[in-house]
Amino acid sequence: MTRKNINLYSPRPRGPQSLGQTHSRPVLHRARLVVPITQPAIEDGAVVVADDVILDVGPFQQLRRQWLEAQARDHGEVALLPALVNAHAHLDLSGLAGQVRAKGSMAEWIRSLLAVGESVDAEELMIAQAEALASMHALGTGIVGDISSSGRFVGEDIQGMILTRTFVELFGLHDDSLEEALSRLPDHARQALTNGEEEVSLAAHAPYTTSAALIKEVKAWGSERAKIITIHAAESEEEILFLHTGRGPLRDLLEERGMDPDRWQPPECGAITYLDRLDFLDGLSLCVHVVKVDEEEIHLLKNSGAAVCLCPRSNLFLGHGLPPVNQLLEAEISCGLGTDSLASNDDLNLFKEMAVLMDQCGIGPDTVLKMATHNGARNLGLAELYGSLEKGKRWLAIRVTAQDVESIVSAGCQGVLEWLR
Ligand SMILES: [Zn+2]
Repeated sequence: MTRKNINLYSPRPRGPQSLGQTHSRPVLHRARLVVPITQPAIEDGAVVVADDVILDVGPFQQLRRQWLEAQARDHGEVALLPALVNAHAHLDLSGLAGQVRAKGSMAEWIRSLLAVGESVDAEELMIAQAEALASMHALGTGIVGDISSSGRFVGEDIQGMILTRTFVELFGLHDDSLEEALSRLPDHARQALTNGEEEVSLAAHAPYTTSAALIKEVKAWGSERAKIITIHAAESEEEILFLHTGRGPLRDLLEERGMDPDRWQPPECGAITYLDRLDFLDGLSLCVHVVKVDEEEIHLLKNSGAAVCLCPRSNLFLGHGLPPVNQLLEAEISCGLGTDSLASNDDLNLFKEMAVLMDQCGIGPDTVLKMATHNGARNLGLAELYGSLEKGKRWLAIRVTAQDVESIVSAGCQGVLEWLR
């Protein structure tokens, strides 16, 4: 079963948008290479754009004849491609950059994260959040799936820079009601959720911090509203040990934080199996990390239509190893890419996530580019308008100084790119 194409968020056009009703003179963007993502790259390609809507994509010579009225703009020896989609980040952790210890233990990393988080003042965190968003933008990211555990959202003054989809993250190993978890949120976050704002949805943090009842309620909340719900799942061996036995370093951490793991019944299975039993997996689910999974769980993901977001550099940073990306792709699971936060990554350059998958997992450049654009947009419910260069989609695109698909990722890693307007 393939994942359904979901229109989670209704489009918010930036001008008079309906195809065929544009008012401005079209611009014909020409480049050595056009990378539409959903079709093979076009040598000496072109994209016709008016009022931020793509009207046509194809070989330059052909489009020049068809669009005589268009104003030509030759970008030269570059590759044009859609803006990147960072499908999993935590902008509100940006102020903790470089301060959180990894040590190869999930529990140790969370312990360090919480300690550092308590020591940084709120204004510094806000500034770091804005700077992180700006750096993402400078590195070609146009859409971000942002997890907000603090309830702080990206400031309205910078929202226009990047299209943001915020997932308000809930925890609560002993909570049996969504209402209780929501009651702990700051007012504006709760209001955004109750007002049904299209850019805002919910995340359950992870199977080891969120009760079965709460995971089910969060998912039901999303299903009623046709919203995508996300969760960290199968990230570390410690998580799997805790799910199987209720023991290990995560149990110690939960006890330290005042929870009573004895009140929590371990499901005695892996994270994805557990989520399947909770009826969490379907076409509106986004599972993040998916490192510690077996073949059977990959089948569960495939059969459910759930989407996956991989964050390979965060996994390496924390010492968890890389996800089974080849198997996930072979199963035709829609895999996007995320950087996770600056507390578990050196920077927010999504091209570097692609480079890891190319260098260490043997994934080809076309595939990693698709993961970082089309798949990410699809997994956030935005594929109708974003994630590829196709007729009718929004013109949200970058140009990278590269002459073939193979060299786009390395050029992007070095930040040799510009935004197109
Ligand atoms: Zn995360």
